[in-house]
Amino acid sequence: MGSLSNPYLQAIFAFVVGACIGSFVNVCVYRIPLNRSVIHPGSHCAACGAPIPWYNNIPILSWLILNGRAACCGTRIDARYCLVETGMAFLFAALWLKYGPTDPIAAVIYAVMVSGLTAACLIDLDHYIIPDRFSLGGCAAGFVASTLHPAIMSEKTALQAFSWSLASAIAGALTLLAIAWIGTFLFKKEAMGMGDVKFLAAICSFLGSVSITWILPLSSLVGSVLGVVLIFWRRGAWGTRIPFGPFLGLAAILWLFGGSEFMYGYWHNVAHIWTMYSSPMVDERLINSGH
Ligand SMILES: [Zn+2]
Repeated sequence: MGSLSNPYLQAIFAFVVGACIGSFVNVCVYRIPLNRSVIHPGSHCAACGAPIPWYNNIPILSWLILNGRAACCGTRIDARYCLVETGMAFLFAALWLKYGPTDPIAAVIYAVMVSGLTAACLIDLDHYIIPDRFSLGGCAAGFVASTLHPAIMSEKTALQAFSWSLASAIAGALTLLAIAWIGTFLFKKEAMGMGDVKFLAAICSFLGSVSITWILPLSSLVGSVLGVVLIFWRRGAWGTRIPFGPFLGLAAILWLFGGSEFMYGYWHNVAHIWTMYSSPMVDERLINSGH
């Protein structure tokens, strides 16, 4: 029994769960935009339609063993399927190692959030849309998660946590709306879609309002740097369309792994300096010291 309480063994279990959820995320990304059920029918080859037996459908491993080809007809299978499964596996393990030992419920909530987030970002990459079931559904999930587990909002009661989650979602949406309006005014073309606005609201309903001060600057920075790199690398024209959702998602994941500590430390220092220079006691000290 002792080994079951070993966080590294638990992380290996989280890795396997993450790989399986990643496999399901791949199915969702492929089927949801086509308005197909994500459950029925079971996995089948996208090229020839043959059903895929379970032993050829093992996350990460099957793609490697079959050398990136379908067992039925030999059609090439995009490496992205394997990468998503591997990425989700590492993310789940990392989430467990960071949050599991102190707050296992938060670790599970963040794992659910990251799964929806990844699916939404991949759909945005493929189709330039984020379906409402991820953005608005994500908001609802964030409100429920905060109410059931107030600790993710750093609150004690369900009502306080729900209120903060709701206020954070509204704050996230309004901030991005304001930026979108300014962008449209400056560049005379639509800079951002409503999908991104609703998506950030969903992220903030899980992560709280302070996360906006991390997610927006970071996603804009990474987005514009990568945009410029892509334009030169692919010799695309200025204005090559890049979806913004994946950058919001990436910044949200980085918030879970250090971003929150960094920003809370930053705002704590800002508040500290503010009170130092605005409190009358400091003024007196300055006067007494002859300044
Ligand atoms: Zn096939």
